Amino acid sequence: MIVGINCGHTVSGSIGSGAVGYLKESDETRVIGYRLMDYLRSRGVTVVDCTNDYASTVSENLSRIVAMANAQPLDLFVSIHFNSGGGRGTEVFTYNAEKFKQAELVCENMAKLGFVNRGIKDGSNLYVVHRTNARAMLVEVCFVDTKSDVDLYNSVGADAIAKAIGDAIIGEKMEEELTMSQYEELKGLIANQSARVDVLQNEVYKLENPMIYNYIDSNMPEWAREAVQWCVDNGIVVGTGDGLNLDDMKLWTCVIIYRLAANLNK
Ligand SMILES: [Zn+2]
Repeated sequence: MIVGINCGHTVSGSIGSGAVGYLKESDETRVIGYRLMDYLRSRGVTVVDCTNDYASTVSENLSRIVAMANAQPLDLFVSIHFNSGGGRGTEVFTYNAEKFKQAELVCENMAKLGFVNRGIKDGSNLYVVHRTNARAMLVEVCFVDTKSDVDLYNSVGADAIAKAIGDAIIGEKMEEELTMSQYEELKGLIANQSARVDVLQNEVYKLENPMIYNYIDSNMPEWAREAVQWCVDNGIVVGTGDGLNLDDMKLWTCVIIYRLAANLNK
């Protein structure tokens, strides 16, 4: 797979540099774009850098970008930009607003990082979209002049954003990564559930294998010993040659009879 990546605009302060708000678009297109290139290369993608840093006019900048892109057959051309104008979130421009998989995945993967999914828009009038030979998309990462977008951008970090876009280019949905606290919560939940299963299994075992008490000795539960002794002494419980053969239910019955008798004798 050969992908052309363009860090949008010329460098900050020169002709053709981009929007400026809380962030400078030209700086951030390079931060994200170059990390994206690194990420794609680490995933085995052949990357062609289609970035133009200096030009005397905007149209010179654009035509140089397209010349770099069209110098070889690309499977995909991606231009990284940042938006301005006071909106929120990520949008992707394609030719005729074509909803191809990688474009849709950019929006979906960015939404997983918390950015509003503004969807796929018609970029037919954008020079780098309609003049490149390869299928193309222009990604507006977020808004440089919206405080909440910039805060989110800074907290999510460039590596995660580059990965989100890179996974989309490769055609993968990004796995949602658990935060440490979510992980601990899940671990606690599983431990709790397995403890409950242990208790239930123990109960089932006890039901299937009732404990039989044949003798009034240390084996008999403390709560029943006095009552059973009384029942035996009064001929209410009579053992066979093999012992008393009492299970839990019978122990409990002895206790009730014992308490009842004590009540009647008052
Ligand atoms: Zn731009």
